[in-house]
Amino acid sequence: MSEFKWRDDRICAVALTFDLDGETIPYMLDPPQATKRMALMSEFSYGPNVSMPHILDLLDLYEIKGSFFSPARTLELHPDVAREIVARGHDLGHHGFMHERPDGLSDEKEERVLAAGIKVIEDITGSRPTGYRSPAWELKPSSPALLKRYGFQYDSSLMGYDIPYWVETDEGDLLELPVSWRNDDWVQFGFVSVPAVGNGISPPSIGLEVFTAEFEGLFARGGLFNMTMHPFLAGRPGGLIVLERLIRHLRGFPRVWWAKLSEIADYCHESAVASTLPRATTEIPAAKWID
Ligand SMILES: [Zn+2]
Repeated sequence: MSEFKWRDDRICAVALTFDLDGETIPYMLDPPQATKRMALMSEFSYGPNVSMPHILDLLDLYEIKGSFFSPARTLELHPDVAREIVARGHDLGHHGFMHERPDGLSDEKEERVLAAGIKVIEDITGSRPTGYRSPAWELKPSSPALLKRYGFQYDSSLMGYDIPYWVETDEGDLLELPVSWRNDDWVQFGFVSVPAVGNGISPPSIGLEVFTAEFEGLFARGGLFNMTMHPFLAGRPGGLIVLERLIRHLRGFPRVWWAKLSEIADYCHESAVASTLPRATTEIPAAKWID
């Protein structure tokens, strides 16, 4: 059992996180046709254009600071949104350049994408990102060392534990703030018609039931509830209702630390805390096939 404890005797932590993918996704879903598909593009541009003001206002209303991750191309297209995220006190982390999955890139290309994304965020906001979330939540075994080499304080893409943990690399240990598909609104509400992607659109009550059950379980275990949302879903009229109901439900629990991922990372890097976190390696166990 881990000796890990949350700050100030808090029972568990809640982080509201948003993957602002924007206009990069059509190029991932339908590369040959993306430039000819106005409707598909409009589905995803809705996130930065329409959802973001509503989401930022809702977070202000409940005095919550969140963590946003965005591909650099989306931020280039919406620099005012990027600056507004930072101005209102939220985290803005790296999420690829065109939402490229690292495991599909050569090591050299992965590094160029990482460096180019850092530069865009730095140029627009004036500060270097300290957090990284991989597009589509995938990393290859060499990725954590690369992130460490570029000075990232944490990654938030893996699912190995309920609490923060270290991933060992040749460049030093990388802090992982784990996620889960169970607390991801894409699974409940993501829908693209062509190509058919997503699981369909759940009633809000079903989505909320999945999210709140996971939270209540993590509350019992003292875990990190790292809620991941996508503005093109969470900022739609019905999506925002789900988010507000979720906040109100979670607010009913005592001694919960509502924090940005960067704040959780700062806490985990304190030496007395760091030594209590579980550790993992980047090794992927080999298969053993029986003939
Ligand atoms: Zn994404």
